[in-house]
Amino acid sequence: MSTNISVPLSEATFLKSAATLKQCPADLGAEVAFCGRSNAGKSSALNFLTDQKKLARTSKTPGRTQLINFFTLSETLRLVDLPGYGYAKVPPKMKEEWQRNLDDYLRGRESLRGLIQVMDIRHPLREFDKLMLDWSKSAELPVHILLTKADKLKRGPQQSTLLNVRRSVGSGASVQTFSATHGIGKIELTRQINTWMTAPTEG
Ligand code: GDP
Repeated sequence: MSTNISVPLSEATFLKSAATLKQCPADLGAEVAFCGRSNAGKSSALNFLTDQKKLARTSKTPGRTQLINFFTLSETLRLVDLPGYGYAKVPPKMKEEWQRNLDDYLRGRESLRGLIQVMDIRHPLREFDKLMLDWSKSAELPVHILLTKADKLKRGPQQSTLLNVRRSVGSGASVQTFSATHGIGKIELTRQINTWMTAPTEG
């Protein structure tokens, strides 16, 4: 079976961090961003996807956790690690500020082709996850949901959660199961990113 996977995911290297839309790298080419609640498994997914053990550790270094972190794949393609959300520890003022920056990024970033939303399969569609889905919808941004840590559930509950989440989001997002530790779902995720990054742009 031909998978037609052409995006060089394993070439990912850290490019820069940005706090605001203005600080982001030139808005050219195509990028796909990852978001999710803190501890959902976003860094592990990025590392597994790119075959790199420490790639997303960069995003976890003190001072970078609230920033948008960019990784170069090629001259025109990038992966983006958005700040993990849902940490009660963050002061409300800071929360407001990065929600504004995140909103600016989701709405204003021309090269952003899609959002990978990472959720722990045992706790999908929490409040902020739903907010992100609404935001993406109003920004007309395609979303693909990763139900990660799928290895934590037996096959039956994995599939029923998948169906429930699919039913709940309807046409608002595509959904798959995933596990960084047990090697589940990498081809499906790679295909999705490949499709978004290689699709011709409108206008
Ligand atoms: P992040 O905060 O969203 O970047 O989450 P991390 O990738 O750092 O993962 C949080 C915790 O979940 C860590 O202890 C990981 O080892 C664990 N974890 C991440 N992905 C998986 C997975 O697919 N399966 C299992 N069993 N654990 C995982």
